[in-house]
Amino acid sequence: MPVYDLHCHSTCSDGRLTPAELVARAAQKGVTHLALTDHDTLAGLPDAMEAATTWDINLITGVEFSVSWQRKPLHILGLDFDAAAPGLVALVETLQIIREQRAEKIALKLEKKGVKEPLEHARRFAGGKLITRPHFAHCLVEQGFAKDFESAFRYYLGQGKPGFVATQWVELETVVGEIRRAGGRAVIAHPRRYRLTHSWMRKLLKLFKECGGEGVEVVTGGCSPGDIEAMAQLAVRFELMASAGSDFHDPANPWVELGRLASLPGTLSPIWSQFDDQASNRVSEQIR
Ligand code: AMP
Ligand code: MN
Ligand code: MN
Ligand code: MN
Repeated sequence: MPVYDLHCHSTCSDGRLTPAELVARAAQKGVTHLALTDHDTLAGLPDAMEAATTWDINLITGVEFSVSWQRKPLHILGLDFDAAAPGLVALVETLQIIREQRAEKIALKLEKKGVKEPLEHARRFAGGKLITRPHFAHCLVEQGFAKDFESAFRYYLGQGKPGFVATQWVELETVVGEIRRAGGRAVIAHPRRYRLTHSWMRKLLKLFKECGGEGVEVVTGGCSPGDIEAMAQLAVRFELMASAGSDFHDPANPWVELGRLASLPGTLSPIWSQFDDQASNRVSEQIR
């Protein structure tokens, strides 16, 4: 029986395992088809691919793009694309510049709150890779400003808090367009987490579909049966395919594990029915 997990993070963004460690863990947990979907970077794909060969697991190219839609931050997954597509590579470069500028602004705000050298700390913890808010959360915990990541977000980094920087990411239409041009599938990540009203959710799904989006993440790590049911109904109504991914970041989090997802409701077409069987081979040919 194939086991799909199409959403997870490595040390190339805000995950705690290297791409190779992540693939190894996924294989040990029984995942047969894995997509590594780091935030705004493709940097982990070559190492993940190499590990996937060793562990005999199917690696699907992935990325989780940061998008602004109606001033709201959303996450759009790209799956099963050509990782060498120039438009996609350029988009990743743009997002990395946005992230770098945002990190500088977050650091200035945190310094005003008495945090020492937050940018240097975040950069060091990110290991020279792209900087995310969890890297600043680590700094806040280390310096005693917060007891854990959750409170670092609640008191400093979350929306409206002293270290929050409103960011103009890239447009939804641009991201979906580039994923498509790269031969991939665009999927709305964890749609229920945005806490949209019914009417905003319908607006989003309609526009997403019109601009070429094909899937929604119906099953995601930590979601409830009610979340699955609600998203399944919307997927049917808007004729979108369904995806499943844990959004795994950290083996120390007992609530989210690779390959432990509920199965998709039978009424839905899985996004992987559209995948190119040669995807894994394409990663190795094109990235090297
Ligand atoms: P960024 O993309 O830099 O804004 O960072 C967002 C990431 O922070 C998400 O992908 C989550 O992994 C993490 N995150 C968001 N909210 C929280 C929270 N309340 N507690 C812990 N981690 C969080
Ligand atoms: Mn994350
Ligand atoms: Mn996300
Ligand atoms: Mn994610």
